[in-house]
Amino acid sequence: KQKNILFIRSFMILFLSCLTIRNNHCFSNILSLNTLQLDGHFNYDDVHHAAKDFGNRYQSLPIAVLHPKSVSDIATTVKHIWDMGPTSELTVAARGHGHSLQGQAQAHRGVVINMESLKGHEMKIYTGKFPYVDVSGGELWINILHESLKYGLTPKSWTDYLHLTVGGTLSNAGISGQAFRHGPQISNVHQLEVVTGKGKVVNCSREQNEDLFHSVLGGLGQFGIITRARISLEAAPAMVKWIRVLYTDFATFTRDQEHLISAQNKFDYIEGFVIINRTGLLNNWRTYFNPQDPARASQFKSDGKTLFCLELAKYYNLDKAEMVNEEVQKLLSGLSYIPSTLFLSEVTYVEFLDRVHVSEVKLRSKGLWEVPHPWLNLFIPKSKIHTFAEGVFGNILTQTSNGPILIYPVNKSKWDNRTSVVIPEEDIFYLVAFLTSAVPSSTGTDGLEHILTQNRRILEFCEIATLGVKQYLPHYTTQEEWKAHFGPRWEVFAQRKSIYDPLAIFAPGQRIFQKAI
Ligand code: FAD
Repeated sequence: KQKNILFIRSFMILFLSCLTIRNNHCFSNILSLNTLQLDGHFNYDDVHHAAKDFGNRYQSLPIAVLHPKSVSDIATTVKHIWDMGPTSELTVAARGHGHSLQGQAQAHRGVVINMESLKGHEMKIYTGKFPYVDVSGGELWINILHESLKYGLTPKSWTDYLHLTVGGTLSNAGISGQAFRHGPQISNVHQLEVVTGKGKVVNCSREQNEDLFHSVLGGLGQFGIITRARISLEAAPAMVKWIRVLYTDFATFTRDQEHLISAQNKFDYIEGFVIINRTGLLNNWRTYFNPQDPARASQFKSDGKTLFCLELAKYYNLDKAEMVNEEVQKLLSGLSYIPSTLFLSEVTYVEFLDRVHVSEVKLRSKGLWEVPHPWLNLFIPKSKIHTFAEGVFGNILTQTSNGPILIYPVNKSKWDNRTSVVIPEEDIFYLVAFLTSAVPSSTGTDGLEHILTQNRRILEFCEIATLGVKQYLPHYTTQEEWKAHFGPRWEVFAQRKSIYDPLAIFAPGQRIFQKAI
């Protein structure tokens, strides 16, 4: 009797799901998925969560969400869809932590794979001369940090925010203030396990199946689903000296940043941000950062001018605190910031790396986390960064910004040009990230429409001034635009797609390829 009740319940859920999305093929697709033998399960009724992301602007409902318990669940599902051939409209999107901005992890009427269900497997840490950790593709970086710290180890390259999955950031690049030194996260991976578009489970590295390895890194989810990754580790520090200094002159600011990323004796982290029209800034900072010269700092007046803040970090262990103080003093003495604006904070390594989560908790409590995020991330060649700043900070964005604007240089030599990520041609290029939040239903300067118009103006300016800019976390709606984004690398990208995902099953939300039906 109980079996009958369960069957009727499942049947009703399928039927209602299909009614909701009004699709004739839907019912047979769901029935066929239901025949698969899995360790995990499909969910057909609770699919709305998979139609949302951090960007909060794009929503595509899948017909099913797979909660895999094993790699074979993923392989079986993909193989099943591959076997259905081009007549089936089913696509597959791996969903990491859903922190995409424009529906990149969504699959309209397709299957979304909730990669975090796979993360329950134990992380395996290998100590020794070249330590590393083996993790699931659905693992969150914050968990990897905590686990590796138990062995006194840590990954080398990070994102600013750690509540993102390994598969999600490796599909883009994964960059933060350590990238100038260690390269992006995709430069710090030894090996991957990938499920290809034919449902095959393949191990790959620089030595084995190297083309697949490089395709997947920065590959926007197009070539396979990352189910496991081997990530390089190093000895972890206990503490961090976290420093901020201010500049009014952009040229001096970037000169110092470029000097620091090529200096012999280095900081461990170098970023920067632009502060537009924030008169009370220094007072706000005092809760986190202590000015080195409080009397002079209190006299500093920004008068609403645009300021540039250099943000630095030096890692250390307590037994070396004195030595690190001297090193930091020496490094700072070579810089030309406004002397009274040296702010210093000493925090634990975890506090430093998990800093954005503190803001998340605050914003969530005010209902300001789940708002639209029309972010724009750009890579700008070093030779064009002044023209960019003049046009954007001197003209387009002079009044206010609705969120942080990050700006920092990285060394191209730390990026592997065999991966799929697209970067500018020059040896040094900048990441400029407009991390804006829109106030829902506002029609003012903090509203979505205004911010989107501003983004368009920035992109148009870059185009007209031929700055050679590339989008990071790119978003385009036509293949022509994607071709322009990839430039001479398009052919290789398209060829790799035809090898590893010939039916264009994967990551339809990127809108690069369309499944031919
Ligand atoms: P999702 O959004 O779920 O997926 C992203 C893409 O990857 C999708 O196309 C998806 O299909 C694909 N994908 C997901 N998992 C897999 C997998 N296992 N195998 C194959 N494909 C997969 N980025 C930086 O580089 N540096 C930063 O400092 C940074 N800070 C951020 C801060 C915040 C608050 C947010 C929201 C984002 C930030 N990002 C940053 C961007 C972030 O790296 C990307 O949005 C990333 O895709 C999010 O990871 P996710 O796990 O949520 O992936």
